[in-house]
Amino acid sequence: MKVVIVGGVAGGATAAARLRRLDEQAEIIILERSGYISYANCGLPYYIGGEITERENLTLQTPESFYRRFRIDVRVRQEVIEIDPKNKSVTVYKLEDGTQYQEYYDKLILSPGAKPVIPDTPGVESNRIFTLRTVEDTFEIDSYIKQHQPKTATIIGGGFIGLEMAENLKNKGIDVTLLQRSGQVMPPLDLDMAAIVHNYMRANGIHLKLNAPVESYKETSNGIQVNLKNQMSFETDLVILAVGVVPENGLAKKAGLELGVKGAICTNTNMQTSESDIYAVGDAVEVTHFVSGKKAVISLAGPANKQGRIAADHICGIPSEFKGSQGSSVLKLFDMTIASTGLNAKEAGRLGMDFDYAIINAASHATYYPGAASITLKVLFETKTGRILGGQIVGFGGVDKRIDVLATAIRAKMTAYDLTELDLAYAPPYSSAKDPLNMIGYVMENLLTDKVKQIHWQEIDSIPKDAVVLDARTDMEYRRGHLDSVMHIPVDEIRDRMEELPKDKKIYVYCQSGLRSYIACRILKQNGFECYNISGGYGFYENLRYGSIPDPEGTGPCGLKR
Ligand code: FAD
Repeated sequence: MKVVIVGGVAGGATAAARLRRLDEQAEIIILERSGYISYANCGLPYYIGGEITERENLTLQTPESFYRRFRIDVRVRQEVIEIDPKNKSVTVYKLEDGTQYQEYYDKLILSPGAKPVIPDTPGVESNRIFTLRTVEDTFEIDSYIKQHQPKTATIIGGGFIGLEMAENLKNKGIDVTLLQRSGQVMPPLDLDMAAIVHNYMRANGIHLKLNAPVESYKETSNGIQVNLKNQMSFETDLVILAVGVVPENGLAKKAGLELGVKGAICTNTNMQTSESDIYAVGDAVEVTHFVSGKKAVISLAGPANKQGRIAADHICGIPSEFKGSQGSSVLKLFDMTIASTGLNAKEAGRLGMDFDYAIINAASHATYYPGAASITLKVLFETKTGRILGGQIVGFGGVDKRIDVLATAIRAKMTAYDLTELDLAYAPPYSSAKDPLNMIGYVMENLLTDKVKQIHWQEIDSIPKDAVVLDARTDMEYRRGHLDSVMHIPVDEIRDRMEELPKDKKIYVYCQSGLRSYIACRILKQNGFECYNISGGYGFYENLRYGSIPDPEGTGPCGLKR
């Protein structure tokens, strides 16, 4: 059997290695347009930032090492320019000498990835504007920086690559501006969670401009002028364009393969395209979203690797299937970790799902043990069943492990009730006896079993005029800032001062993070009041409305400093 693979990185290299492990006799050829295979796309920003210092560390394999280990014929700087599905051949263009040749296959695997979106903005062709996809792009940016010593850089786009580049350029001592066309960075997050990131970026000296679409670029003698729509123009030394990626579908389109969402290649669960001898994997393919069941494009390394293995399995007669992506992702931004999995509220709302969510602020581990860090969790659940639909976690410690537990819970179709029962490892340096995930499970369980009702910060302005808004925090917290027109009764005084509250009016209670207000709600509910907890508390609201700077230090219960 002869298998030809287009693209030799995440999906392609994985497929090739798995094929060899399953079939010692197969002839396997990888055709790769760039000069490198199996390179660490995800590590590229860190080479530019100087975190990764050795060029060799960016490539996990070379054509020679791949041949030695797997006897796979790897041909770099060779681009497949056409597929002939009828004759089962591809036309290959050799970048070295401009010649072409045909290569025949029994099975073809496409793993061409996704390419950066280059908007049609006047001046975008300037050679001071860069995109980052390949090792070559990385070296180009790196040598531009070494040669021109830019003092300022502007990043267009606040997704994964934009934020990673912002950190890495800032760490090199460059003054970084990040322009985002919409009102928030990190599309997998909801705005309320992204607001924490916005404030942290600004606190770390990144000039973040939201709702700032670029109208044009113009080269100047020393740099490049960035002209914004309805805003001041400014000059910068270097621009990184990171406004997203689109599936690299040119070959598939020309070959008449079926395309779906955003032009991504359609496959079945075995990764076969509409031509059964052609498989496609990775960023170029359409997937089924594991939670919503809708078709989607999710460009991440995990699914690409898994799909590469599944395609190889299927070619070798093993009926492996890809059951969907849920978009689990994690990102480092200075000392902050930003992570998400499954659906966010924007998506669940768009899909018309019946859902609610809980928000808590917690400490990464027991606060009496040094080094506890603050984390904010938002978890979505289906209101009828309690099934967990998605989660977002932003904070300064233990974020990655919590998001992975949540991702696993979503995969296992667990509910909020299940989350309360998870038996998670605990010792003071690592967690609390009730892990933040158990805690948010309790919050959701309380909502699902009507122990408490809640409203979200977006609904604060629509609280009825005749209702009472009650601040249940301490005097000192209240003095530092509070919502307008509120009553203030600290939670510990509520039982003694209950007669001050009108029984015939709805009571909306808030504290710093939602814990004490929940306790207040329980007291009031059991005394005949109709009571609502304001989710996330004043800390969350303040962050969103006033842009307060996130505090990396661990908080005590309910956002109180230790
Ligand atoms: P790729 O790994 O992109 O490989 C495609 C290869 O195909 C390319 O090398 C390309 O040159 C080659 N090719 C394309 N067309 C042809 C052709 N016609 N002929 C020959 N060769 C061709 N994902 C994460 O999950 N976590 C991260 O932290 C993360 N960070 C990232 C950082 C950066 C800077 C980038 C660019 C991506 C990052 N990703 C991350 C995304 C991740 O790298 C991709 O999801 C993954 O590599 C996709 O695998 P793939 O095999 O589909 O495509």
